Amino acid sequence: MAYCTEDIVSRSQWGAQDPTGKETMKTPVKIVFIHHTAGGRTTSKEKGMEITRGIQGFHKEERKWADIGYNFLVNEGGHVFEGRGWSLVGAHTKGMECSFCCVLYHGETLTSTSQIPRAVKAVLDMIQLGIDTGKISKDYKVYGHRDVGATGCPGKYLYDIIKKWDKYSTEKPSK
Ligand SMILES: [Zn+2]
Repeated sequence: MAYCTEDIVSRSQWGAQDPTGKETMKTPVKIVFIHHTAGGRTTSKEKGMEITRGIQGFHKEERKWADIGYNFLVNEGGHVFEGRGWSLVGAHTKGMECSFCCVLYHGETLTSTSQIPRAVKAVLDMIQLGIDTGKISKDYKVYGHRDVGATGCPGKYLYDIIKKWDKYSTEKPSK
């Protein structure tokens, strides 16, 4: 079953702080970036909301970003949490802001590629929802953050997972 918007935990549901700025993203986007974040591992929706609040606090207070950096976040239970959402530019991949981004909690601690099936399905369902609603181009390409920056993100096993996807691209992304 594909996601419908009611399945996405909205900002008001997880208790988001208001952003201090917004920049509209040109859609449909052609690039989807996958990240991990060091927020903790959980399959629980409630715990996921708490972690998402923590990530937003960190991004606003420490990174001095206007809001949580990512467009959407996904936990190991397959729960999706709305970050900046479908229409606003994220702060996650410098110079490549015209992209949609999903992040999986704590992907760097995986020890095999088979540990997060629900999260992986949730990301793919979200991409399909983005295509169905005109936010993501059907000719989109997928990259890991490490494809464009000096970073270990996403971690080895998560990176191995996305490299197997049909839409993963080895061509350098362009803005
Ligand atoms: Zn990243």
